[in-house]
Amino acid sequence: MTGFLDIDLGAVVANWRHLSGLHAGETAAVVKADAYGLGMLPVAHALARAGCKSFFTAHLDEAVALRAALPDVRIMALNGLLPHAAADFFAQDITPVLGSLKEVALWSAEAKGLGQVLPCFLHLDTGMNRLGLTQAELVTLKAEPERLAGVQVEVVMSHLVAADAPENRLNEQQALKFYASALQFPNARKSLANSAGMFLSPFFHTSLARPGAALYGVNPTPGRRNPMKPAVKLTAPVLQIHDLPVGETVGYAGSWKAERPSRVATIGVGYADGYSRALANRAHAWFEGQMVPLVGRVSMDLATFDVTDIQINQGDLLTLLGPDHGVDDLASEARTSGYEILTSLGRRYQRRYLGA
Ligand SMILES: *Cc1c(COP(=O)(O)O)cnc(C)c1O
Repeated sequence: MTGFLDIDLGAVVANWRHLSGLHAGETAAVVKADAYGLGMLPVAHALARAGCKSFFTAHLDEAVALRAALPDVRIMALNGLLPHAAADFFAQDITPVLGSLKEVALWSAEAKGLGQVLPCFLHLDTGMNRLGLTQAELVTLKAEPERLAGVQVEVVMSHLVAADAPENRLNEQQALKFYASALQFPNARKSLANSAGMFLSPFFHTSLARPGAALYGVNPTPGRRNPMKPAVKLTAPVLQIHDLPVGETVGYAGSWKAERPSRVATIGVGYADGYSRALANRAHAWFEGQMVPLVGRVSMDLATFDVTDIQINQGDLLTLLGPDHGVDDLASEARTSGYEILTSLGRRYQRRYLGA
């Protein structure tokens, strides 16, 4: 057995309520990438029961899977509209986030063909330079408003480049650009903040916030105390314990060597489970309040810990992610982000959903 992944839906709901309390507008939930690895359907069901009415996925197929489970919520697909996809968006009642004049044209053609007015979100690029209408495209749209025939822009949105760095001047510059461009759509609601953006000043609060990571316990205020509740706990049973004399090494390439008589515990979690190779000789696990260091390389299906200083037996559970050691801690040991830790959580864990 690999390990147990406990997902606390009660914490996810509590995090959504906490975020909702930060501003006057609506708080949506971003559930792309299987709700950052936690499981889109259980997460979305719990949030919908708590009163969340708007959900964002990245792709159409994610949105379609969510629609089958939740017939009455608002679902937006962030990554826009590909040619030939418009009919599926309409049939499944998915609102596209249009990010170019080409996509506007596709959605307008769909509306004209149906003889209906179709809603959309419009993504304005203010500096991310990935998705969204450019300033030049906005000028064209202003000069040629017929391009929006049959299309109702319900929300204009943009995405912040550096919301997790409050001192970065780019935040204000993007917001100013966004508010100026949004004047072109006086009847549309506005949406700017992601998780970290909700913790910037009220200048960044709009009528619709789009948090993802903070719902799942990632710290939206790096460097400060995490205001969110942890939503995942990962534990794994000890498969074997090896007593090593001085000079023995552990794992591939022998990258760790016993400097004293040592005991090493092996668990059945490896990089195939999202427990990154970058953690080699850097990560920690916990057992009954004590920290134990990861030693040697992480294998595909195994990892090894120095348990010389603690009392532990085969079958006991080491905690890899938990209250003492959260996603942001493991992320810093792996030199990555909490986002990547969560979205990499493997499929072999026994998942248990708690709360909600
Ligand atoms: C992923 C995403 C979000 C959510 O961001 P978090 O940092 O996880 O809160 C919001 N908006 C857009 C456009 C996104 O791609």
